[in-house]
Amino acid sequence: MTASTQILQQVFGFSAFRQPQDKIIQTLIAGNDALVLMPTGGGKSLCYQIPALARDGCGIVISPLIALMQDQVDAMRLLGVKAAFLNSTQSADEVRAIEQQLREGVLDLLYIAPERLTQVHTLQLLKEIKLALFAIDEAHCVSQWGHDFRADYLQLSLLHEIFPEVPRIALTATADARTQEEIASRLNLSDAEKFISGFDRPNIRYQIGVKHNAKQQLLKLLKADHQSDSGIIYCLSRKKTEDIAAWLSEQGFNAYPYHAGLSAELRSRHQALFLRDEAVIIVATIAFGMGIDKPDVRFVAHLDLPKTIESYYQETGRAGRDGKPATAWMIYGLQDVIKLRQMMANSEGNEAHKRAEQHRLNAMLGLCEITTCRRQALLAYFGDELKEACGNCDICLDPPETWDGSEAARKALSTAFRTEQRFGVNHLIEVLRGTNSDKIFQYGHNNLPVYGIGEDLNNNQWRSVFRQLVARGYMSVDLERFGALRLEEKCRPLLRGEETISLRKDARPIAVKAQTKVQLAPEVDIALWEALRECRRGYAEELGVPPYVVFHDTTLQEMCLRMPQTMEEFNDLTGVGERKLERYGPAFVSVINRHLAA
Ligand code: ADP
Ligand code: ZN
Repeated sequence: MTASTQILQQVFGFSAFRQPQDKIIQTLIAGNDALVLMPTGGGKSLCYQIPALARDGCGIVISPLIALMQDQVDAMRLLGVKAAFLNSTQSADEVRAIEQQLREGVLDLLYIAPERLTQVHTLQLLKEIKLALFAIDEAHCVSQWGHDFRADYLQLSLLHEIFPEVPRIALTATADARTQEEIASRLNLSDAEKFISGFDRPNIRYQIGVKHNAKQQLLKLLKADHQSDSGIIYCLSRKKTEDIAAWLSEQGFNAYPYHAGLSAELRSRHQALFLRDEAVIIVATIAFGMGIDKPDVRFVAHLDLPKTIESYYQETGRAGRDGKPATAWMIYGLQDVIKLRQMMANSEGNEAHKRAEQHRLNAMLGLCEITTCRRQALLAYFGDELKEACGNCDICLDPPETWDGSEAARKALSTAFRTEQRFGVNHLIEVLRGTNSDKIFQYGHNNLPVYGIGEDLNNNQWRSVFRQLVARGYMSVDLERFGALRLEEKCRPLLRGEETISLRKDARPIAVKAQTKVQLAPEVDIALWEALRECRRGYAEELGVPPYVVFHDTTLQEMCLRMPQTMEEFNDLTGVGERKLERYGPAFVSVINRHLAA
């Protein structure tokens, strides 16, 4: 048995590596660099934890989110790994104590934020001690073209210069080809061995629909599929996260807001509730979630459109890390498209940067509007090919109908043209539908030939037409005049009748059969299951960690099915390593024996 397999079994209690964990670990143990791209839940952490244990010295893990370091360290300590973290939340005394441990060489793993690592003082200290490796987590943060850029990450290139002999591993779950190249070049990892796994998350069901009444649509989703599940709901504004959380609480859900404007104390309280309890919903801006490794998040809902497919994939990727069925649900509308286009045009940065942003947004809109398998499109965006439609997205499960929208599109475009491309969608629809409003008369639009030519479609149908025209680049949003719709070059052939356009019918809400719930195996005795959960809850509270840090649900379920009655049998369970066997084995075994005797 290799040293790494031994660590896998004895410390982590897992029987075998997942591909390509083993190869990555061997690369590092041999002292070489690695660049790892693996989907969320794929098992990236072991790729640096095991070599850090196998090699001499301390492994340094660089991670951008200090809020999670405590939990990561707690989980390591429960396994008997000597781990610590250094960040700005600690007192001078605590920092000194950890620095002392580093000098004495007693630590296996140190988690540290990039800004801390690159301080002269820290680098000096690291030069004095033996280092096993550097792990650069969330490595896509180094990319300026990416969506999570952090300036501190750029400094990490100096690791290679100062510590040329220490192997480095960079890890990320999302990076298109361009970002991959940027990671390699900015971190001096051009010679690193690359491990690019597929991106697919087959257990996640992707659903994207049109926004009609966001709250009611959300409520329907929760009631139908996720009544007592943990989940994350993403909104664009801080105020909206608070509104939605308050409203969900009125509806009887445990929902809490999370955004950068809340006090640090409140944020960490809400995060702790989410991690520790079951059936907690966090309503968050994008500030929440990076590095969250709660395995049983059953749904991620977007009430606003993310700006890029990278963000969308990363945020939805927080669902179902345990591999069980999970939902990624999003609704969006014309207003989202207009708002995002405006935000981007007004953003800082040069023209090239803005073009890149627009390009990413267009790809996101394309994903929303497609009428073919969502997963195929998502994976194709990341350069992955899925041969067959997935059978687990809203389009595969309930294929959308399309209609020939050429005539309607021409009417919509002509109306924008006749009103001098100076009006927003609401006014254009009033003109089309021949509405008698003050504004219509004020501008004399009742005298236009297009006035009333669109009575055959209702308000929602026209909004759908305009949304699709904007999303597909036939129209654009005028930024000088708030929300005015303009014609784009692309619409000429359509107006001339040389082209037709097929639009999707989206009058109806996303109607997908309820998800199969995560269920306990039918053989599981519920009384035993509850007794084991009670036992786990006791330890979790005593240790101040989330229950899944003690044992995952899967391990608990295995206990119910195999009913180990001795420590040896208990040792065979997935997720039971030496330390957990010794600490918690006796209590759980006695729960099982009591159950069998009853
Ligand atoms: P990532 O960081 O890639 O999102 P994690 O490292 O958090 O993923 O791993 C996801 C889950 O898979 C964790 O619960 C982890 O314990 C489990 N896991 C990882 N590798 C293995 C393995 N070889 N055998 C069993 N479980 C594993
Ligand atoms: Zn599909």
